[in-house]
Amino acid sequence: MLVNCPTCGKSLEWDPANRWRPFCCERCKLIDLGEWVAERHAIPGEPVVDGLPEPAPGHDDRSH
Ligand SMILES: [Zn+2]
Repeated sequence: MLVNCPTCGKSLEWDPANRWRPFCCERCKLIDLGEWVAERHAIPGEPVVDGLPEPAPGHDDRSH
């Protein structure tokens, strides 16, 4: 049985041993996951941070 990879559309044989099914490979699975994560959260590649730590006070030694 042939299925199409949801990410790249490539035909591949449905193989229960394929851990990435219905995707053709790990990359396509991660891309697809990344897309739905991006829709819910943020831009891919942007680190998800909950409140950046403030710069430590008194660390500015460019005083001359
Ligand atoms: Zn693919």
